[in-house]
Amino acid sequence: MKREADLVVKNCGQLLTLRSTDRTPRRGSALADLGLVENGAVAIRKGRIVGVGSASSVESSIQPVATCREIDAGRAVVMPGFVDCHTHTCFARYRLDEYEKRVRGVPYSEIARAGGGIAKSVADVKEMDEETLLEVSEKRLKGCLDHGSTTVEIKSGYGLDLDNELKQLRVIKRLAEVSPAQVVSTFLGAHAVPGEFRDRREAYISQLIHEMIPLVVDQGLAEFVDVFSEIGVFTTREAERILRAGISAGLKGRVHADELNDTGSAEMAVRVGAVSADHLTKINTRAITRMADSNVIGVLLPGTSFGLPSLDFAPARDMVERGVAIAIATDFNPGSSPSESMPMMISIACSHMGLSAAEAIAGATYNAAFALCRAEEVGSLEVGKHADFLILDCEDYREVPYRFGTRIVGRVFIGGNEWKGDSS
Ligand SMILES: [Zn+2]
Repeated sequence: MKREADLVVKNCGQLLTLRSTDRTPRRGSALADLGLVENGAVAIRKGRIVGVGSASSVESSIQPVATCREIDAGRAVVMPGFVDCHTHTCFARYRLDEYEKRVRGVPYSEIARAGGGIAKSVADVKEMDEETLLEVSEKRLKGCLDHGSTTVEIKSGYGLDLDNELKQLRVIKRLAEVSPAQVVSTFLGAHAVPGEFRDRREAYISQLIHEMIPLVVDQGLAEFVDVFSEIGVFTTREAERILRAGISAGLKGRVHADELNDTGSAEMAVRVGAVSADHLTKINTRAITRMADSNVIGVLLPGTSFGLPSLDFAPARDMVERGVAIAIATDFNPGSSPSESMPMMISIACSHMGLSAAEAIAGATYNAAFALCRAEEVGSLEVGKHADFLILDCEDYREVPYRFGTRIVGRVFIGGNEWKGDSS
């Protein structure tokens, strides 16, 4: 029986379906499989995909309804919307002065001592009322959509006290309600030890475990719990305690792991059964092997190294070859990576981490959906999934990394509806 369609996208020169053969994250040589169909088409009904593949196969399997709209992709690349699985989009202000200092070579530790870094963003969020924070965060989230992200994870972590963490999480919840994008919320109360707890860090950890996590769960404000495990922030043991508390309260785990130092936190992520371990700039070979043998997604954040600026990039090539399921995200934040552009992250991942265009694109869509436990819904163009797709301003997908910093995302569709920026 033919399926009814109310929207058909035709004339897709390269249709990147990212279709799955086994519904598991892509590893090793499979990562480069984009499920590419030349001269493809996509059929949609009520925001879901009902047909996808070659133009002839889609045409013969669907029945357009009377009001069916047709879009001619003009031989362009059509692909799934990006899944940005690691962002800090809910922040109050940019930190421009710090960038000026960093590019002149002032170390982050010195900037932090002078009250900059995460502490500055915490002070900014505390000072801003909830409505204004919503307004500025919504503007930024729109920027993510403009660059083709149709699913966006957003973390708290600039509150670092009960009231302000809940304030951030409420803003993230409201963003999920007002934005056409799918927003996934993460509680990151363990982003730093607040200054006032410097000499009694155990008191803050106890507050996180016994007060904040239960309230966040009670109020349904987050799906994930995250911890910044790093020298000078939370030790691996502390991070493990916080994660285990979150997981046993019903949240799913993710970790800022092995970013500036090899602390064993990627292996800890495997041990606690986290969904992802993120950053991994300093991950060692043993931890790479452990991750490869696990279900933990390795989320790579090329923009963070690029923006610091640093020549240290995560060993992506080695991770792929050893079988780690990697994903790519922006880490959009006002410190190290003030960019919401997934195409730019793909460019950096290719130029500085040695990934191929196909590998980076699969990491930014299909595998990233696994990093958010959304693989049943998004990340590929397959029958039954959300009709979240992009029509690119190019005819060859390899242009995505190649033409870095240019406008490569032409049209953005979420649930079959076109996103037209503020006029949507
Ligand atoms: Zn982060």
